[in-house]
Amino acid sequence: MHICTVCERVFNDDELENAIQISGSYGRSRTPIAFRFSDGIHYLRKIGVKKPKQSPMPTTEPKEDSELLKETVNALAALPIPPVAELEVKPQVKPEINEEESIRAMQFAWGIRRSK
Ligand SMILES: [Zn+2]
Repeated sequence: MHICTVCERVFNDDELENAIQISGSYGRSRTPIAFRFSDGIHYLRKIGVKKPKQSPMPTTEPKEDSELLKETVNALAALPIPPVAELEVKPQVKPEINEEESIRAMQFAWGIRRSK
């Protein structure tokens, strides 16, 4: 089963056989794939039998296929809920660094360099 990320229409596999794949490929990430149907283009994403709750796209999309990315952005723009919301939830993890110690180490390193 597939779902259109734009209009949320669910397509069965046999319906896909009559459609023409325009872009994208399965195997990497959950990027929607553009299919041309008799009534227009739909951006399909593979789904299980259970219909998921409009899960946002992964924000760490590899920037290798700009053409596909553009279409993905277009598809996402049509979504009612912007996937950017996921970004805001991400906690900023700061590595714990002993500042005094690192400064001393730096000064030590600089001292050696300068003495040469
Ligand atoms: Zn659609």
